[in-house]
Amino acid sequence: MKKLESWLEIPQDSDFSIYNLPFGIFSTVARGKRIGVAIGDQVIDLSMLAKKLKLDKEVVENNYLNDFIALGKDVTNGVRLKLQEWLSGADEDLDVKEAMLSSKDAVMHMPVKVGDYTDFYSSMEHATNVGKMFRDPENALLPNWKHIPVGYHGRASSIIPSGTPIRRPKGQVMPKDATEPVYQASERLDMELEMAFIVGKETELGESITTANADDHIFGMVLFNDWSARDIQKWEYVPLGPFLGKSFASSASPWVVTLEALKPFSVQGPEQDPKVLSYLEYEGEGNYDVNLSVDITPKDGETERICNSNYRYMYWNQKQQLAHHTVNGCNVNVGDMMASGTISGKDENSYGSMLEIAWAGTKPLTLKDGSTRVFFKDGDTVTIKGHAEKDGMRVGFGEVTAEILPAL
Ligand code: CA
Repeated sequence: MKKLESWLEIPQDSDFSIYNLPFGIFSTVARGKRIGVAIGDQVIDLSMLAKKLKLDKEVVENNYLNDFIALGKDVTNGVRLKLQEWLSGADEDLDVKEAMLSSKDAVMHMPVKVGDYTDFYSSMEHATNVGKMFRDPENALLPNWKHIPVGYHGRASSIIPSGTPIRRPKGQVMPKDATEPVYQASERLDMELEMAFIVGKETELGESITTANADDHIFGMVLFNDWSARDIQKWEYVPLGPFLGKSFASSASPWVVTLEALKPFSVQGPEQDPKVLSYLEYEGEGNYDVNLSVDITPKDGETERICNSNYRYMYWNQKQQLAHHTVNGCNVNVGDMMASGTISGKDENSYGSMLEIAWAGTKPLTLKDGSTRVFFKDGDTVTIKGHAEKDGMRVGFGEVTAEILPAL
């Protein structure tokens, strides 16, 4: 990719370099919700450039990106490339400069109205770890796992933007060695380090998306924390899968990084053996090299890193996920969110959930303040970060963070 310089001062380590230009929804004290583009520590107010970009005001001054995304990639990536052009070079573009504000003054919101939310289970390391803990260590993966990108339909209403605190859920659990379930606050509140893609082009009922055209239907990606109450989940999940152990909250990062911005960081995924069925075969590179991390900050405590992982470890890629999702003719809509599943790597320091980090409670994690964790405590703040980097180009997601509040 061509090296780009900007007249704007952009911090070297910024996730929001000139190569990125992600879209989000922001507001300020004086301005209602509208589309913004992140650059360095600035936000570009697209409504101030609507005329120059030939965009309808109603599309730009909007609570969500959905209408903008629905214009299609020719328009949305066209806007991104125009901004890139105006930000490049030595000479300030006065209109663009005028449309900027400090990101400190922007309140970020959910970027899209999520109609449907699906969560996959596509990291082999995560599925293997869970299988080892709860089933048979010798046959950790279920027989379907290497043939199907396993997933379930989740709850869209409780997907919340970064910064929104989450409430420890209450529910029904079966305590160890008990014979009757009890109603209580979850004692096993966990994170799941995930990424999610956002559907950018709808399909009709009956239509299927192929792996070859999947990228046309994907607008971009966000970081995603699929909060999980393991004790509620454990008691409820047989036979129909996750339900209230998951649906109390999922946190999403506010800036949507487009697939076009991620393209330079595409990589080959792990080899798939056995061979997949024909509709899941794909050409080219299906994964992205995105460094991911998780930090924990206890109440009034010091932040420390508890996980370093990478999106490239995913066994099933999103082309395959989307082809599988629609192989039966299930239609998708603009703004649908599809999460990856917990992204764990091979090493213990790359595990994307507390369940794996503390190995179902058998290996407590000791923090710098001497306190231990097997799952999260009230007052803990959990922060996921992610970025790709190559040849001096950095394209990042910022973060998705949330503090855990006590149960009501
Ligand atoms: Ca999940």
